[in-house]
Amino acid sequence: IEFHELKLNKALVLACHDQGYLHPTNVQAKIIPIILKGNDVLASSCTGSGKTAAFLLPIMQRFGNLKSQQYSKALIILPTRELALQCFEMFEKLNKYANCTAALVIGAVPIQQQEVELRKYPDIIIGTPGRIVDLLTNSSSIEIQNIEILVFDEADRLMEMGFENEIKQILLASPKDRQTVLISATLNATVKQLSLLALNNPTKINV
Ligand code: AMP
Repeated sequence: IEFHELKLNKALVLACHDQGYLHPTNVQAKIIPIILKGNDVLASSCTGSGKTAAFLLPIMQRFGNLKSQQYSKALIILPTRELALQCFEMFEKLNKYANCTAALVIGAVPIQQQEVELRKYPDIIIGTPGRIVDLLTNSSSIEIQNIEILVFDEADRLMEMGFENEIKQILLASPKDRQTVLISATLNATVKQLSLLALNNPTKINV
């Protein structure tokens, strides 16, 4: 299978090829069509599978060509600053020939800079739960009431690290009719609990 068979536009396919990604990985071949269709996803998938590009590419495909910058369209939550940064760096590589916008919203960085970025309504917000909830509750400079896609990556670690309350606040602040993608290395009891709370009739994927 080829990237272009997944109905990704040329700019994204070219960026993949530049990275040396000649063919989609297993998880990419499975998840990309489902996200493009608009369905919720519950995927068990580990680091190294290509899962980051598996959710970034369809999000960029869907929102990259809409240039009304009036609200942010996707929110991607990861458990640590390091993982959020890696996701942001992957976004920048895949965006080489496209013109999506993204903001990285993590702790230990001055909050003012992020507030300025968020007011420009980047297509995609990539961040950690603590800082995102800080921005929601303390300065209300993050607006997620219009997002169309919410992604929880490494959901088992999000739960292990005690972010349940932050996740609940994020779910409450985002639209009920959003699309939600949940990715986890293991589908343990706490992740299943979260999936019941966050997902609506998800397609289940195991890779
Ligand atoms: P991830 O599972 O998202 O942490 O990605 C693991 C590694 O796989 C990253 O270093 C990517 O650069 C690489 N990767 C992602 N997609 C592909 C692909 N289609 N072909 C080859 N390598 C890939």
